[in-house]
This record gives sequence, C-alpha cells and structure tokens, in this order.
Amino acid sequence: MQTRPMQTVRTLPELRAARAAMTGRVAFVPTMGALHAGHMALVTAAREVADHVIASIFVNPLQFGPNEDLARYPRQEAADAALLVEHGCDLLWLPPVEVMYPAGFLTTVSVAKIDAAFDGAHRPGHFDGVATVVAKLFGQVRPDIALFGEKDWQQLAIIRRMALDLDMAVDVRGVPTVREADGLALSSRNAYLSAGERTAATELPRALNAAVAAIGRGEPVSLALAAARQAIAAAGFEIDYVELADAALQPTEELPARLLAAARIGTTRLIDNIPVTIRASR
Ligand code: AMP
Repeated sequence: MQTRPMQTVRTLPELRAARAAMTGRVAFVPTMGALHAGHMALVTAAREVADHVIASIFVNPLQFGPNEDLARYPRQEAADAALLVEHGCDLLWLPPVEVMYPAGFLTTVSVAKIDAAFDGAHRPGHFDGVATVVAKLFGQVRPDIALFGEKDWQQLAIIRRMALDLDMAVDVRGVPTVREADGLALSSRNAYLSAGERTAATELPRALNAAVAAIGRGEPVSLALAAARQAIAAAGFEIDYVELADAALQPTEELPARLLAAARIGTTRLIDNIPVTIRASR
C-alpha cells in the first residue's frame, strides 16, 4: 500500500507552485469524484508511466444538461482522498467552481463530428462541456500524460482529437474498463441504482457481449443489435442507443467497430461499450 503524503490544493497559485516543484514526467487523471476501482485503474496506470501523479476532482456544471443529475451527483471528498493516497497519487487538485469558471468566462471548446452521434446526440452540449473543462485542466496541470477510461469511449476520442488539434502536447492514453464480477461497468452513477435495478443492470453488458458473440458466429449485425436492444428493453431499460461506431465515432455496420450503448433504468443512465473485432460473414 502506498503511504507517501498527498498534497491537496484548491487555488491556482498553490497548484502552480506544486506543479513547478515536480521534475520528470507528470501523469494526470481528471475525475468528477465518487471514486471507485475504475478510477483507481487510471491512477495505477499513471503511477506506472510517470514520476508524479496528479488527480483532479471537479463536478463540471458545463457538462450536465438542465434535466441531468448535477445536484445529486455523489460527492465524497474524504473517502476519495483516502483512495487516492492509497494508490499513490501525489497531488489532488480540487478547484472550486468559481476558480474554474470565474465571472466573465466566455470560451467554449467544441470538437466537431466526433460529437455528432451517440452521447453527443442524446446529451446536447455535453461534450463541449467536457472538452472545455479538460482543456482548462490541461492548461492548469500541464501534464505530460493524461489517462482516461475506455468506458467513456466517445469522450476518449474527443479528448484525443482536441489534444492533437490544439497542439496541447499531452499524451492521451486510454485504460480498459473495470467491471464488477457480474460484468457491470463500474460507474459513480451505479450508486443511484435500487437493488432491483442493480440486478437488472447486468443485462446491459450481457446483451452487448451476446451481440458480439452472435456477430462472431456470422449473424448479420442488424439482427444481433436488434436482439441486444430487445433484451436490454426487456430488462426494464429505456434505450438511448445500441449501435456500432467506427474509429471516427460515426455509426457503421462495418467491422471492426466498437459496440456502444446507453440506456436508462429508473432515473439512472448507464453507458457501456465493447470491441467488435471479428468480421461477420453475411
Ligand atoms: P468520471 O469521474 O465519471 O468523470 O470518470 C473519470 C475518469 O474515470 C474518466 O476517464 C472515465 O472514463 C474513467 N472511468 C470511469 N469509470 C471507469 C471504469 N469502470 N473503468 C475505467 N475507467 C473508468
């Protein structure tokens, strides 16, 4: 277990001073808190590739729609800090909202095309909020490497494109999705699920895996996806999308691809994705 001290900072001058004292490579893990083993996989990966690890916790109002869960998003700063210490984080950046978005703030970062389908279509403005806050965090933290979860597949693609397009000189790396034993992807939002919803939620990864297996057996993509949608709906979900995406995050039926899904159960919206690498014979 890691026991070295972690510094926590809440102002830009403190962050800049702590960052300036770091020599060697700095890896950065941005989060919205309510940390779990998925986030810790990012911190562990960061620890392996850098001399210093910085994590941030900021529940970013810009990336929540008016009817989304900003107010009830779980906040548990002390438990989060303890987990970060345990996993070898050196510096925790906890900016208050008025530090991130002071009066007069006017700039938005928008990554076109990659944000058009999937979550971008279902959550208008969401990825502009994500790109804007991550651009700011990169400017504040000045990391050499930044780690993002593959669980948020479209987000990872958007951040990669933004870093490239805006010459941010940050090496953006993806980390595989961490799952519960029954296959459900870890998410801070899983805390919203009732016991019954939690049981039913297993159907989301199960149906995605079944679709990938069917495609691998040569079943047409459209039939495999229709069966997955039916199974997910039968478990009590309202589906936003269950579709294949190409490398540029455009809808496709060609392989290889990524199978992406978003669906709501009760008041909780879950997302997941898995690779589809086997070429179907049609
Ligand atoms: P969030 O706090 O939900 O904004 O997530 C912060 C980072 O953790 C993002 O890069 C997410 O993709 C990543 N993340 C969240 N859940 C998981 C998971 N189950 N496995 C791997 N990474 C994750």
